[in-house]
Amino acid sequence: MLRRVLLAASASPRLRKLIMAAPQTRAIVDSYVAGETADDAVRVTRALRGQGLLVSLDYLGEDTTEERQAASVTEEYIQLLGKLAAEGLTQGGAAEVSVKPTAVGLFLGASLATRNIERICAAAHEAGTTVTLDAEGYDAIEPTHRIIASLRAEHSDLGCVVQAALRRSEADCRTLAGHGSRVRLCKGAYNEPESVAFTARREVDLAYARCLKILMDGAGYPMLATHDPRLIEIGGSLGMLNARGQDSFEYQMLYGIRPAEQRRLANSGARMRVYVPYGGDWYGYLVRRLAERPRNLTFFLRSLGSKS
Ligand SMILES: Cc1cc2nc3c(=O)[nH]c(=O)nc-3n(C[C@H](O)[C@H](O)[C@H](O)COP(=O)(O)OP(=O)(O)OC[C@H]3O[C@@H](n4cnc5c(N)ncnc54)[C@H](O)[C@@H]3O)c2cc1C
Repeated sequence: MLRRVLLAASASPRLRKLIMAAPQTRAIVDSYVAGETADDAVRVTRALRGQGLLVSLDYLGEDTTEERQAASVTEEYIQLLGKLAAEGLTQGGAAEVSVKPTAVGLFLGASLATRNIERICAAAHEAGTTVTLDAEGYDAIEPTHRIIASLRAEHSDLGCVVQAALRRSEADCRTLAGHGSRVRLCKGAYNEPESVAFTARREVDLAYARCLKILMDGAGYPMLATHDPRLIEIGGSLGMLNARGQDSFEYQMLYGIRPAEQRRLANSGARMRVYVPYGGDWYGYLVRRLAERPRNLTFFLRSLGSKS
């Protein structure tokens, strides 16, 4: 309930201004975000690679309303991929990029977004790595799937994300579980209505387990994006049940969340990828992280109210 209220309230320009201007916000942002620049992103990637972790980098920003801005986000990804490749960090897909379709112009037209994503895919290919398209609000899901379908002929390793909370997702998993397809499964971080999504935590968890089973039974490459210990365990058991090698699927977690568990999984021989956001446009990302965990939110609101 609190999560839904916060996600709805986050659209208010006043709340946005208050949160972005509060000095106490910085410490929380720093715990979830790698820094402002591509050099910060490369530095954090280097450190995570040193711990045996894989990385997916996200240049923060979404819902772009200007073509110029969409082009500049695209350029940022291309430059970033060049910097990562120059340091050998992209080898074998060790560091890849995650792209939000609305950041590269989805709501300005599918053809513009497709062109921009194609340019990022070409740069990733050149660098020897991959691209995954994030899943955003419900309005963006169908157009994102169409873009993926249109680009997969040329870029068969273009990854996509399924949000277990959406009622359509089991069907999507069946369609997407084919040979070679890279599918990230997450619970879903957006505020969607009952008509299209499960809204009770337990229902979402059960839906995640059903989707996971379809993907792990399939011929694709599942990417299990969750910090939930029960679902991580179910993922491992399904891997064994389906006689999957440890290199035929991976776990994914967000930068700053359960880092000890990230290292434990990597040390056990599993492929473990950390999703690392960077950039100055962190508001939407931060609110979704606060909404996921009431304890974080209480701490944050208390610090906003204090004088220190
Ligand atoms: C790699 C990755 C990529 C993602 N990409 C997308 C995407 O494209 N689209 C999308 O809608 N969502 C995406 N998400 C977010 C996802 O949908 C969930 O909102 C988020 O992962 C929290 O769900 P959970 O599975 O960890 O389970 P939860 O039940 O929320 O959390 C399980 C446990 O994890 C820990 N935890 C979870 N969140 C936090 C937090 N913020 N701070 C501290 N501890 C926490 C707590 O111990 C909690 O008990 C992504 C998540 C990951 C890990």
